[in-house]
Amino acid sequence: MATIPATTNVTTGKFVSEPKATYSLSIENLADIVAYSPNATQPDSLVSQASLPAGSLFTPITTATEVRQKKWSTVQISQDKHVELNSALVYMNHSCRPSLEIDMDLMEVRVAKDRDLQIGDELTFFYPSTEWQMDKPFVCLCDAGSGCLGTVTGAVDIEAQKLRKWFVNEHIVKLKSAQTSEIE
Ligand SMILES: [Zn+2]
Repeated sequence: MATIPATTNVTTGKFVSEPKATYSLSIENLADIVAYSPNATQPDSLVSQASLPAGSLFTPITTATEVRQKKWSTVQISQDKHVELNSALVYMNHSCRPSLEIDMDLMEVRVAKDRDLQIGDELTFFYPSTEWQMDKPFVCLCDAGSGCLGTVTGAVDIEAQKLRKWFVNEHIVKLKSAQTSEIE
């Protein structure tokens, strides 16, 4: 997840990444399918090196480890558990029209169901599909037009009916269902 705490270099006006892209693409065998590629706002964005059909397996997740506290780099896997991916996959940006789905029940990353993945496509997923409450909410600048959430705070703030537009993990389905029955 690449809500990287990017800061602007005062002298050059360019974004400076912190941390730097430290994960080798050999981890999770990503070298054939992933490349680092800076975009306008995120210095460590990822693009696809593979073209794959909609819904197909992009990569299994095998290096994740459970951590005590959520932070910008963690992914939520259940109502109260979070993991570090420990691979370059941590730099997938959020999009409200994501190119990938991340499924923490099956521990795999898949191509989005609504379109094929092309070489050069930015690798993105929908952060509220795993995150109930984002560690650091942010303003989304994705290309989804009227389908863009605007400010991304987590699934907690997305109406149940609206949330159905996206693939979300089972713990998010359960948390949303519990939240909805509390309100009604
Ligand atoms: Zn958006």
